[in-house]
Amino acid sequence: MDEFDLIRRFFTRAPGAGVVQGPGDDAALIEPTPGRQLVATTDTLVESRHFPADLDPAAIGWRALAANLSDLAAMGAEARWCLLALTLPSADEAWLQAFSAGFFELADVAGVQLVGGDINQGPLSITVQALGEVEPGQALTRTGARVGERLCIGGVPGEAAAGLECWWRGERSGPLVERFRRPRPQLELGRALRGKASACIDISDGLLADLAHLLGQDPGARVEAAQLPVSQALHAWPPDERRALQFGGGDDYLLLFTLPHEEPLPPECHEIGVITAEPGTQLFDEHGELLPPVDPGWKHFH
Ligand code: ADP
Ligand code: MG
Repeated sequence: MDEFDLIRRFFTRAPGAGVVQGPGDDAALIEPTPGRQLVATTDTLVESRHFPADLDPAAIGWRALAANLSDLAAMGAEARWCLLALTLPSADEAWLQAFSAGFFELADVAGVQLVGGDINQGPLSITVQALGEVEPGQALTRTGARVGERLCIGGVPGEAAAGLECWWRGERSGPLVERFRRPRPQLELGRALRGKASACIDISDGLLADLAHLLGQDPGARVEAAQLPVSQALHAWPPDERRALQFGGGDDYLLLFTLPHEEPLPPECHEIGVITAEPGTQLFDEHGELLPPVDPGWKHFH
């Protein structure tokens, strides 16, 4: 099988909405919705750096797309199209079959079409570009959080990082492993937050690391550790380890956003703190005691 057979066999599907020309020509031809802004993003996943070398190909395909769709979600965009640049050590058909199945499974859930890409030989690395659309002036951005607003999160943080820990211990199934294998980009939540959230970011590096990106030089945030939601699966972890996973673990792809007082909290979201005039992030326990800083780079100690 040469490169073109691989593309035809694993990455070509009938063109859908807005696609004039999909894979096969020198470039894709796309017809964006008139009057909307394009939202464009790209992310690369490198073996052993962004996922374990023994992660199954279906999960690699899903995660490569998820990382990009999560960026669109954080902008409040509707996901529309994507491109896939693959560098592969070899043309392993079973690997490509599973990889493309995982990739397209999420693409179908999110309503995204693969319109083109590239295939090269070399050490495994996957780059996806995703294109979305948003009404002019409606995109969510990282800047805009104001003092006194509520800091909110779109679900339970730390589960993906805990799932990765489980994977390293040899577990291959279970709710936490699934959270790492197949994170769900919060596209619907992002769309629902348009015109409501004053700032938004997706958590890819870790709650505290991405909160710092949301805050910039100022303002700051007061985070209530006791208000962090904990799932049944996370309850089993020792409290210290759990706290480190929840504050420092990445890969959850949950939205972190700020809400003005009058806006109701969307379903399945949690209020975890408040924006403060004092810069930086301060963590407090349930007794109102200041907690020592948690290492936001915890997940990299391995
Ligand atoms: P070129 O040499 O002109 O850059 P390629 O030979 O790399 O083109 O690709 C041929 C066609 O196949 C292009 O339309 C490209 O977008 C598409 N393509 C290549 N790799 C992929 C892939 N992994 N998934 C989807 N489409 C792909
Ligand atoms: Mg060409």
